[in-house]
Amino acid sequence: MRFSKLRLTGFKSFVDPTDLIIADGLTGVVGPNGCGKSNLLEALRWVMGENRPTAMRGGGMEDVIFAGAATRPARNFAEVALQIDNGERLAPAGFNDDDNLEITRRITRDVGSAYKVNTKDVRARDVQMLFADASTGAHSPALVRQGQIAELINSKPKARRRILEEAAGISGLYQRRHEAELK
Ligand code: ATP
Ligand code: MG
Repeated sequence: MRFSKLRLTGFKSFVDPTDLIIADGLTGVVGPNGCGKSNLLEALRWVMGENRPTAMRGGGMEDVIFAGAATRPARNFAEVALQIDNGERLAPAGFNDDDNLEITRRITRDVGSAYKVNTKDVRARDVQMLFADASTGAHSPALVRQGQIAELINSKPKARRRILEEAAGISGLYQRRHEAELK
């Protein structure tokens, strides 16, 4: 599965709809401090089902909604849509019928988050599983936060093992086993 486009609307500093086209090969995002580079990476993690506000550098999940600026009022919702080129049909079973997949997450104040795959309403878990099975996702080792390398060097073996499991694509299996044990 290849990510081809990220669209942000009302997400953090991206108040107007903004498209980030992800071309083949390496994409670099450069800009002055505070221009929104880290917000882009957070949007990617968020649409894949990240549920910890701290991972979004916020106190609550609604903090991702554009909070207003001197000349613009705050928004009532934030939306991120991730387009995936699935031409090679590498998406996990159940999501593998189309050439293009679009995952959308929207959070509305006082309502919470809602997810869609293409036009179909799905649960957060469905989106998290889709990405866990594809060895990516909100906790993917492919997404490296600012300061994360130093954390990794100082982390305990158990935490490092989790990162290796994620990279090996078996974390989805662990999550299912955990859920089965709870039943
Ligand atoms: P650096 O180079 O310092 O790492 P950066 O390009 O990564 O900077 P970000 O941290 O992505 O910048 O963006 C920070 C900006 O996003 C700040 O100006 C902050 O005010 C703005 N911001 C964060 N959350 C919101 C929000 N909910 N509403 C409006 N603006 C927001
Ligand atoms: Mg940054």
